[in-house]
Amino acid sequence: MDLRPLKTARDDLLLLDLDGTVIDIAPLPGEVWVDGSLKSVLHELFMRDPLGLVIVTGRSLSDADRMLTPIRLPAIASHGAEVRVAGTAAASTGALSIRYLKPALEAVLNPFVTCGAIVEWKPYSSAVHVRTAPELAGPVLEALRAFVERNRSYRVQPGPYVFEVLPAGVAKATAVSRLMQHLPYAGRRPVFIGDDCADHDAMREVERVGGTALKVAGEYFPISDSHFASTADVRAWLMSRAREETSGTASDCSRCISE
Ligand SMILES: [Mg+2]
Repeated sequence: MDLRPLKTARDDLLLLDLDGTVIDIAPLPGEVWVDGSLKSVLHELFMRDPLGLVIVTGRSLSDADRMLTPIRLPAIASHGAEVRVAGTAAASTGALSIRYLKPALEAVLNPFVTCGAIVEWKPYSSAVHVRTAPELAGPVLEALRAFVERNRSYRVQPGPYVFEVLPAGVAKATAVSRLMQHLPYAGRRPVFIGDDCADHDAMREVERVGGTALKVAGEYFPISDSHFASTADVRAWLMSRAREETSGTASDCSRCISE
Protein backbone atom coordinates (compact mmCIF):
# COMPACT_ATOMS: atom_id res chain seq x y z
CA MET A 1 0.00 0.00 0.00
CA ASP A 2 1.21 3.49 -0.84
CA LEU A 3 1.23 5.44 2.41
CA ARG A 4 2.23 8.74 0.84
CA PRO A 5 -1.31 10.14 0.51
CA LEU A 6 -1.69 9.92 4.27
CA LYS A 7 1.34 12.09 4.81
CA THR A 8 -0.38 15.18 3.54
CA ALA A 9 -3.93 14.41 4.60
CA ARG A 10 -5.44 17.10 6.74
CA ASP A 11 -8.25 16.54 9.21
CA ASP A 12 -7.19 12.94 9.67
CA LEU A 13 -7.77 11.47 13.10
CA LEU A 14 -4.89 9.18 13.90
CA LEU A 15 -6.02 6.37 16.23
CA LEU A 16 -2.97 4.67 17.60
CA ASP A 17 -2.63 1.44 19.53
CA LEU A 18 0.45 1.25 21.79
CA ASP A 19 1.75 -2.28 22.47
CA GLY A 20 2.87 -4.09 19.35
CA THR A 21 2.08 -1.01 17.23
CA VAL A 22 4.43 1.76 18.31
CA ILE A 23 6.09 -0.09 21.18
CA ASP A 24 7.77 -3.48 21.03
CA ILE A 25 6.00 -6.19 23.02
CA ALA A 26 7.89 -7.31 26.12
CA PRO A 27 7.53 -10.61 28.02
CA LEU A 28 5.51 -8.71 30.63
CA PRO A 29 3.46 -5.52 30.11
CA GLY A 30 5.39 -3.67 32.81
CA GLU A 31 8.68 -4.31 31.05
CA VAL A 32 8.01 -2.31 27.89
CA TRP A 33 10.25 0.62 27.12
CA VAL A 34 9.04 3.82 25.50
CA ASP A 35 11.82 5.69 23.80
CA GLY A 36 12.05 9.43 24.38
CA SER A 37 12.10 10.08 20.65
CA LEU A 38 8.69 8.39 20.28
CA LYS A 39 7.29 10.62 23.02
CA SER A 40 8.68 13.66 21.22
CA VAL A 41 7.08 12.60 17.94
CA LEU A 42 3.70 11.95 19.55
CA HIS A 43 3.90 15.27 21.34
CA GLU A 44 4.78 17.04 18.09
CA LEU A 45 1.82 15.45 16.29
CA PHE A 46 -0.50 16.41 19.13
CA MET A 47 0.77 19.97 19.25
CA ARG A 48 0.32 20.39 15.53
CA ASP A 49 -3.24 19.13 15.60
CA PRO A 50 -4.73 18.52 19.08
CA LEU A 51 -7.78 16.85 17.55
CA GLY A 52 -5.75 14.68 15.22
CA LEU A 53 -4.38 12.06 17.60
CA VAL A 54 -6.01 9.66 20.07
CA ILE A 55 -4.26 6.73 21.73
CA VAL A 56 -6.42 3.56 21.71
CA THR A 57 -5.11 0.99 24.16
CA GLY A 58 -6.08 -1.91 26.37
CA ARG A 59 -3.89 -0.48 29.09
CA SER A 60 -5.50 1.58 31.83
CA LEU A 61 -5.38 5.34 31.48
CA SER A 62 -3.00 5.70 34.40
CA ASP A 63 -0.71 3.04 32.96
CA ALA A 64 -0.71 4.70 29.52
CA ASP A 65 0.07 8.05 31.14
CA ARG A 66 2.88 6.45 33.15
CA MET A 67 4.39 5.00 30.01
CA LEU A 68 4.19 8.24 28.06
CA THR A 69 5.10 10.64 30.87
CA PRO A 70 5.69 13.58 30.77
CA ILE A 71 3.27 13.90 27.88
CA ARG A 72 -0.43 13.24 28.36
CA LEU A 73 -2.42 12.54 25.26
CA PRO A 74 -6.09 12.11 24.42
CA ALA A 75 -6.80 8.43 24.96
CA ILE A 76 -9.31 5.63 24.75
CA ALA A 77 -7.93 3.32 27.46
CA SER A 78 -8.93 0.06 29.16
CA HIS A 79 -10.33 -1.09 25.78
CA GLY A 80 -12.83 1.77 25.93
CA ALA A 81 -13.83 1.71 29.61
CA GLU A 82 -11.88 4.96 30.05
CA VAL A 83 -12.15 7.77 27.50
CA ARG A 84 -10.24 11.03 27.90
CA VAL A 85 -10.69 13.04 24.76
CA ALA A 86 -11.62 16.61 23.91
CA GLY A 87 -15.15 17.43 24.92
CA THR A 88 -15.52 14.81 27.65
CA ALA A 89 -15.77 15.80 31.30
CA ALA A 90 -14.79 12.51 32.96
CA ALA A 91 -12.57 9.67 31.85
CA SER A 92 -14.66 6.85 33.31
CA THR A 93 -17.47 5.60 31.10
CA GLY A 94 -19.29 3.95 34.00
CA ALA A 95 -18.12 0.41 33.24
CA LEU A 96 -18.16 -1.98 36.19
CA SER A 97 -14.92 -2.24 38.13
CA ILE A 98 -13.30 -5.66 37.90
CA ARG A 99 -12.94 -5.72 41.69
CA TYR A 100 -16.49 -7.08 42.01
CA LEU A 101 -15.45 -10.11 40.04
CA LYS A 102 -11.98 -10.53 41.51
CA PRO A 103 -12.60 -13.21 44.18
CA ALA A 104 -14.49 -15.52 41.80
CA LEU A 105 -12.01 -14.97 38.99
CA GLU A 106 -9.03 -15.53 41.24
CA ALA A 107 -10.45 -18.90 42.23
CA VAL A 108 -10.54 -19.88 38.55
CA LEU A 109 -7.09 -18.50 37.76
CA ASN A 110 -5.06 -19.58 40.80
CA PRO A 111 -4.31 -23.09 39.44
CA PHE A 112 -2.92 -21.54 36.26
CA VAL A 113 -0.86 -19.04 38.22
CA THR A 114 0.89 -21.88 40.02
CA CYS A 115 1.75 -23.31 36.57
CA GLY A 116 3.26 -20.07 35.27
CA ALA A 117 0.40 -17.85 34.05
CA ILE A 118 0.69 -14.21 35.09
CA VAL A 119 -2.46 -12.30 36.01
CA GLU A 120 -2.57 -8.54 35.50
CA TRP A 121 -5.36 -6.74 37.35
CA LYS A 122 -6.48 -3.55 35.69
CA PRO A 123 -9.29 -1.21 36.86
CA TYR A 124 -11.89 -2.75 34.52
CA SER A 125 -10.41 -6.02 33.37
CA SER A 126 -8.07 -8.85 34.15
CA ALA A 127 -5.47 -9.99 31.64
CA VAL A 128 -4.03 -13.48 31.90
CA HIS A 129 -0.61 -13.63 30.28
CA VAL A 130 0.74 -16.99 29.10
CA ARG A 131 3.73 -15.76 27.07
CA THR A 132 6.09 -17.47 29.49
CA ALA A 133 3.91 -20.60 29.68
CA PRO A 134 2.30 -20.92 26.21
CA GLU A 135 1.13 -24.47 26.88
CA LEU A 136 -1.50 -22.94 29.17
CA ALA A 137 -3.17 -20.97 26.36
CA GLY A 138 -5.82 -23.57 25.53
CA PRO A 139 -6.78 -24.48 29.10
CA VAL A 140 -6.86 -20.83 30.22
CA LEU A 141 -9.11 -19.83 27.33
CA GLU A 142 -11.42 -22.76 28.03
CA ALA A 143 -11.65 -21.87 31.73
CA LEU A 144 -12.31 -18.19 31.02
CA ARG A 145 -14.99 -18.97 28.46
CA ALA A 146 -16.72 -21.17 31.01
CA PHE A 147 -16.37 -18.37 33.56
CA VAL A 148 -18.03 -15.72 31.39
CA GLU A 149 -20.79 -18.20 30.56
CA ARG A 150 -21.60 -17.99 34.27
CA ASN A 151 -21.00 -14.23 34.36
CA ARG A 152 -22.77 -12.89 31.30
CA SER A 153 -21.90 -9.25 32.00
CA TYR A 154 -18.34 -10.04 30.96
CA ARG A 155 -16.60 -11.42 27.89
CA VAL A 156 -13.21 -12.84 26.97
CA GLN A 157 -10.94 -10.91 24.61
CA PRO A 158 -8.29 -13.27 23.23
CA GLY A 159 -4.94 -11.92 22.09
CA PRO A 160 -1.48 -13.25 21.36
CA TYR A 161 -0.45 -15.07 24.56
CA VAL A 162 -3.01 -13.10 26.59
CA PHE A 163 -6.67 -13.52 27.44
CA GLU A 164 -8.57 -10.66 28.96
CA VAL A 165 -11.84 -10.71 30.90
CA LEU A 166 -13.64 -7.40 30.52
CA PRO A 167 -17.16 -5.97 30.65
CA ALA A 168 -19.27 -7.30 27.78
CA GLY A 169 -20.07 -3.87 26.36
CA VAL A 170 -16.50 -2.62 26.43
CA ALA A 171 -14.49 -2.85 23.20
CA LYS A 172 -12.14 -0.66 21.23
CA ALA A 173 -14.47 -0.91 18.23
CA THR A 174 -17.43 0.41 20.24
CA ALA A 175 -15.39 3.25 21.71
CA VAL A 176 -14.02 4.25 18.31
CA SER A 177 -17.52 4.19 16.85
CA ARG A 178 -18.72 6.52 19.60
CA LEU A 179 -15.72 8.79 19.14
CA MET A 180 -16.45 9.22 15.45
CA GLN A 181 -19.90 10.51 16.34
CA HIS A 182 -18.60 12.76 19.10
CA LEU A 183 -17.93 16.42 18.51
CA PRO A 184 -15.34 17.75 17.87
CA TYR A 185 -14.02 14.55 16.24
CA ALA A 186 -17.09 13.87 14.09
CA GLY A 187 -16.34 14.50 10.43
CA ARG A 188 -12.69 13.63 10.71
CA ARG A 189 -11.33 10.75 8.67
CA PRO A 190 -10.11 8.05 11.07
CA VAL A 191 -6.81 6.30 10.41
CA PHE A 192 -6.33 3.38 12.81
CA ILE A 193 -2.97 1.69 13.26
CA GLY A 194 -2.98 -1.56 15.22
CA ASP A 195 -1.53 -5.00 15.55
CA ASP A 196 -3.90 -7.42 17.22
CA CYS A 197 -7.33 -8.96 17.50
CA ALA A 198 -8.91 -6.16 19.55
CA ASP A 199 -7.55 -3.62 17.07
CA HIS A 200 -8.89 -5.61 14.14
CA ASP A 201 -12.50 -5.08 15.21
CA ALA A 202 -11.85 -1.35 15.61
CA MET A 203 -10.20 -1.31 12.19
CA ARG A 204 -13.29 -2.82 10.60
CA GLU A 205 -15.36 -0.11 12.26
CA VAL A 206 -13.01 2.60 10.96
CA GLU A 207 -13.23 1.21 7.43
CA ARG A 208 -17.00 1.01 7.72
CA VAL A 209 -17.16 4.78 8.23
CA GLY A 210 -14.77 5.52 5.36
CA GLY A 211 -11.50 5.59 7.27
CA THR A 212 -8.27 3.70 6.77
CA ALA A 213 -6.94 0.75 8.78
CA LEU A 214 -3.21 0.11 8.76
CA LYS A 215 -1.95 -3.23 10.06
CA VAL A 216 1.34 -3.84 11.83
CA ALA A 217 2.87 -7.26 11.26
CA GLY A 218 3.49 -9.34 14.35
CA GLU A 219 1.83 -12.12 16.26
CA TYR A 220 -1.62 -11.49 14.77
CA PHE A 221 -1.27 -10.00 11.28
CA PRO A 222 1.08 -11.80 8.87
CA ILE A 223 3.61 -9.59 7.16
CA SER A 224 2.08 -10.39 3.78
CA ASP A 225 -1.16 -8.73 4.88
CA SER A 226 0.36 -5.77 6.75
CA HIS A 227 1.20 -2.17 5.94
CA PHE A 228 4.05 -1.97 8.43
CA ALA A 229 6.62 -4.71 8.94
CA SER A 230 7.42 -3.71 12.51
CA THR A 231 6.85 -1.18 15.29
CA ALA A 232 10.06 0.52 14.12
CA ASP A 233 8.42 1.13 10.74
CA VAL A 234 5.42 2.74 12.44
CA ARG A 235 7.69 4.97 14.52
CA ALA A 236 9.61 5.99 11.39
CA TRP A 237 6.34 6.80 9.61
CA LEU A 238 5.11 8.87 12.55
CA MET A 239 8.40 10.73 12.58
CA SER A 240 8.16 11.53 8.88
CA ARG A 241 4.59 12.67 9.40
CA ALA A 242 5.63 14.92 12.28
CA ARG A 243 8.41 16.44 10.20
CA GLU A 244 6.19 16.93 7.16
CA GLU A 245 4.97 20.32 8.21
CA THR A 246 5.94 22.68 10.92
CA SER A 247 3.15 24.54 12.59
CA GLY A 248 5.34 27.05 14.35
CA THR A 249 3.84 26.13 17.71
CA ALA A 250 6.19 26.01 20.65
CA SER A 251 6.77 22.70 22.38
CA ASP A 252 4.75 23.14 25.53
CA CYS A 253 3.42 20.15 27.44
CA SER A 254 0.90 22.34 29.25
CA ARG A 255 -1.27 22.28 26.13
CA CYS A 256 -1.72 18.51 26.45
CA ILE A 257 -5.07 17.43 27.80
CA SER A 258 -5.11 17.14 31.57
CA GLU A 259 -7.37 15.11 33.75
MG1 LIG B 1 -1.51 -3.94 20.38
